[in-house]
Amino acid sequence: MDLTTRLHLLDLIRLSASAESTCRAAERAEHRARLHRKEAAATRRRCRSAVRTAPGRELDDAVKALADAESTYEARAAQVVATGARWRRAFTASERADARLGEELARTRKLTSASQPRRKGARLTAEIALLSELAAMPEELIRAASALLVQSSAGKDSVVALDRVVRWAKAAGCLDKVVVVHADIGQDAEWPGVRDLARQQADRYGLRFVVVKAPVGFLGMVEKRGMWPDAQNRLCTSTLKRDEAAKLFTQIVDELGLDEQALIVNCLGIRADESPSRRKKHELAIDHRASNGRRLVLTWHPVFHLSEQDIWQEIVDNTLDYHPVYDTLIPRLSCIFCILASFDVLVRAVRLCWVLGLETPKTYTDLEDRIGHRFKNKFSLAEVVAEASRLEAAEGPITWRRGDAIRHHLGEEAATAYLQRLALAA
Ligand code: SF4
Repeated sequence: MDLTTRLHLLDLIRLSASAESTCRAAERAEHRARLHRKEAAATRRRCRSAVRTAPGRELDDAVKALADAESTYEARAAQVVATGARWRRAFTASERADARLGEELARTRKLTSASQPRRKGARLTAEIALLSELAAMPEELIRAASALLVQSSAGKDSVVALDRVVRWAKAAGCLDKVVVVHADIGQDAEWPGVRDLARQQADRYGLRFVVVKAPVGFLGMVEKRGMWPDAQNRLCTSTLKRDEAAKLFTQIVDELGLDEQALIVNCLGIRADESPSRRKKHELAIDHRASNGRRLVLTWHPVFHLSEQDIWQEIVDNTLDYHPVYDTLIPRLSCIFCILASFDVLVRAVRLCWVLGLETPKTYTDLEDRIGHRFKNKFSLAEVVAEASRLEAAEGPITWRRGDAIRHHLGEEAATAYLQRLALAA
């Protein structure tokens, strides 16, 4: 099966999934409308009975209430009819989309009609199979893409993901399609130098660099909500990063000005090893939320199967520049205080802030005080700062040397070789 056919099938899968979710939403709306009609019918019954039994002086009010109840009932009944019709239309569209996908898959894969994917499970199986085939052919995928966006936090996984995409894009002769995107979550929440490093990493390959920024940064968002985000509600990622990236998809598609649907490949440096929830993801996936008739968006994780050690090895092998925060053995660059970080990592981050003269611990603990919500369920940032103070008194300020991250993961020899190569490249 050629690449164009695969992409065509993926778009049919997207359409089928989207039709199904529209159908489910229409079904829910019809159900709600029926409930509202039931409530309106009960109110109307009560009003009718009130009119029958109302003493003379209250009759006018009872009649008026009944007239209101009658008209509410009529409106609710009309809603049931309208939402029912919408649901039937959505159901037919969903059936049609499934049938079309089934036919196309049967045609291309020579399946019998009995095995056509008319159910979500079967569609998902086809989707996963097609996407894993595509993930195994990165250069072809890049050639087919209208644009590739590499989301860069400037962290270690991002820089390796970028380097891999660049190598494949060069081999495919499509480097000009690559755009590096950095989501600015607020200078007061990020380690100093993060944005500049992301820019330098893009400059190294002569790539376009775009900074996206939500109107309100991380701390503003917390202040407004009166709550910190948590692992289950990662509003910081969705509001400050994903939603802003989606706006950029629209802009890029406008710039491309294509007559046909654009294929946007959105690359993220996340790895299966990082957490159980990330392990459940796939190397390549359709971004159903961001895709539409104008663009098919695929999310690509070019370092998905790499371990932390592999990442450091690629950094050494390709002499990639990394942020000095890693040398203090803080494992992720991310926000200075990430809601997903462990207690020990946060303590180390506080101590690093003190060495760098950053006000961030105070800014965060003041905010925690003000909103009366603990940074994490299990502990507050005030407790983190208290532990950092205790360690500081016992051990003095933390120290580190350039290359310590590599020493830690790959040993002294690798660190020395890396630093020498970095000096030569400077
Ligand atoms: S680094 Fe952590 S706190 Fe910052 S945006 Fe990402 S998940 Fe949220």
